Amino acid sequence: MTINDIAKKNYEWVEEMGWHNKTVLEALALVASEVGEAINECRNEKPTAAFGEELADIILRVLDIAHWQGIDIEAEINNKMLINEQRGTRGRQK
Ligand SMILES: [Mg+2]
Repeated sequence: MTINDIAKKNYEWVEEMGWHNKTVLEALALVASEVGEAINECRNEKPTAAFGEELADIILRVLDIAHWQGIDIEAEINNKMLINEQRGTRGRQK
């Protein structure tokens, strides 16, 4: 599955659950809440076994917003990686 396929599949499941009742700002706040959950999984020396699941939650919430807003997130990611590569370090230390 491509990233856009995953975004569509996840969007359709969230829609089926009846959870598309938020503003974009509210949906972004839920992305932040998932980041908080991921942080909690890293409070000890090593991330817990649940860390990967929380990273997936972050991505799925972002993909849901992207699909909802008609954003081709795969193209955006590829384009941004190209911009980052061309930008180089801009003097920052590696
Ligand atoms: Mg979570």
